[in-house]
Amino acid sequence: MRKKFFLYYMILIVIGVSITGFFTAQLAQKFYKDEVEEKLKSTAYMLEAYITEEGSKNHSMDFDAVAKRYAKVLSPSDKSNLSASDTNTRITFVDKTGKVIGESETDYHTMENHLDRKEIKEALQGKIGRDFRFSHTLNTEFMYIALPIDSTGTIVRVSVPLVQIRSINNIMWLYTILGIVLGLFLTSALAFRFSSSITRPINEFMSITREISVGNYSRRVNIKEKNELGHLARTFNEMTSKLERTMSEIVDKSLKVESIIDSMPSGIVAVDIQSKVILINTIACEIFGIKNGPGLIGMNIIELIRNSQVNAYLTESMVSNRSLINEITIGAPNEKILRIYTTPIKSKDIDIPNSGGLVFIQDITNIRKLEQIRTEFVSNVTHELKTPLTSIRGFIETLRGGAIEDKNVAERFLEIIDIEAERLYTLINDILQLSEIETKQKDVNIGLYHIKPIVEDTLSILEGTAEKKGVILTCEVDPELKINANRNRIKQMLINLVENGIKYNVENGSVDIKAYKSEGGVTVRIKDTGIGIPEEHLPRIFERFYRVDKGRSRSMGGTGLGLSIVKHIVNLYNGDIKVFSKLGEGTEFVITLPA
Ligand code: ADP
Repeated sequence: MRKKFFLYYMILIVIGVSITGFFTAQLAQKFYKDEVEEKLKSTAYMLEAYITEEGSKNHSMDFDAVAKRYAKVLSPSDKSNLSASDTNTRITFVDKTGKVIGESETDYHTMENHLDRKEIKEALQGKIGRDFRFSHTLNTEFMYIALPIDSTGTIVRVSVPLVQIRSINNIMWLYTILGIVLGLFLTSALAFRFSSSITRPINEFMSITREISVGNYSRRVNIKEKNELGHLARTFNEMTSKLERTMSEIVDKSLKVESIIDSMPSGIVAVDIQSKVILINTIACEIFGIKNGPGLIGMNIIELIRNSQVNAYLTESMVSNRSLINEITIGAPNEKILRIYTTPIKSKDIDIPNSGGLVFIQDITNIRKLEQIRTEFVSNVTHELKTPLTSIRGFIETLRGGAIEDKNVAERFLEIIDIEAERLYTLINDILQLSEIETKQKDVNIGLYHIKPIVEDTLSILEGTAEKKGVILTCEVDPELKINANRNRIKQMLINLVENGIKYNVENGSVDIKAYKSEGGVTVRIKDTGIGIPEEHLPRIFERFYRVDKGRSRSMGGTGLGLSIVKHIVNLYNGDIKVFSKLGEGTEFVITLPA
């Protein structure tokens, strides 16, 4: 930019000074020529007067002698710088026929007829003849003035070489070049200053606009001048400030909208009329296993989420211009049940029904699973209750039918009815406990309790059962060990586990209870030498009503809820339970509860 300015300046100066030089030279030449012409004219008039006067006295005038004498008189005294031929005034006399009759410079006899010369022709017409001609011999322009001398019928021609023109030209060119050099020198400094005063703000504007284009609105143009540039700078700064405010408002708003959309519990995908994604939130990305990033915007929804059902529902919504709710199951990245709510985006243009569509995706896998668990639980409970009730009713019917008469039979039947009623009681008790833990009700007696007495209580409760089975119960508990929980729940947890250890044990087997301080808090291990659990059943034994061997469990008065209650209690205190078992060797439950 600056270079260009500089160049333009230089060109302007060269052109300007050259034009000025040229016209000045022309003017100087003109003045010089006018002056020479005047001089020649006066010489011609003087000669005319002389010839007229002399002619009246002397009829046979020697024009050649007159020419030579006068030319000598008129020649400059100082010829130091110029040759005689350069400066001498040349006087020529020509008769009416154009014949030269006298000449100051050469022998007039050798000269050709002058009738064709312009100045002579004009003089013959009675006017003052005038001409400028370039002499190639002298490489100089000559000025000729011819005057008719009526008295003698001759013409006097006076000419002089315009040698000064050459020097005028030379001087003018010298001055022009000097002017150009000086002009260039002086104006280059000015041009530099001027170009800087223009290019510096322009560069500043450019650098700031570049920063604005990359989103930095904080810089301002620093031009304090009171001219147009200063005015432009102030307007530009005001515009930048407004832009900065507007942009920050827009960014703020869009951040708010983004965070609202992102913190929504449902997945959201919005598309334009061509099904190109214009918005997608994190949840939607997670549901469909998409890596979130800016490249997702603009992709076609089918390419992005790769689910033809969602695409079909969305298209249907957009075409029919109504909202739809559907449920789909997807297999990847995980198996999920999704509720898909599709709705058109209302268009501002009344001619277009909608300007795109919205998809809300709700992951209802857990809801459906819970519903399924509840349904299964209800049917399991019904089934579990039905079995002892049917048995009780059957024995009552038999007793009514006459069995009551036989005392021994009646006694046995009543005993069975009692066992079944006891089973019903245990079952209902277990169900109630489970529901209590699930709803976290009645868990009010939380406190810091020593574990050892709880374990001892458990052992004293189950001593009789263990003895009957010939199972030895051992315990190794740190007496200082404490736990922050509901004492009864911990006791229930231990009863269920130790009871199972006895129930599923072998004759003369053992159940060992250990409790100690561990990294995770408090660890309790209940290890038996019983029948063990087949590996394939291990992942399911904590499910409600899940039994490895139904008949065996039932015959031992099991409800299938014992381990489920244990797991619920462990979860209640944010603990962890693991099971290790080997068929025929025994089972070990390891529980870790936070201290
Ligand atoms: P149940 O009332 O049938 O004992 P649980 O929920 O307590 O129900 O146990 C579920 C199932 O896990 C039992 O039916 C049994 O098959 C198996 N089981 C539990 N504890 C043990 C154990 N210590 N040894 C072997 N099997 C066990």
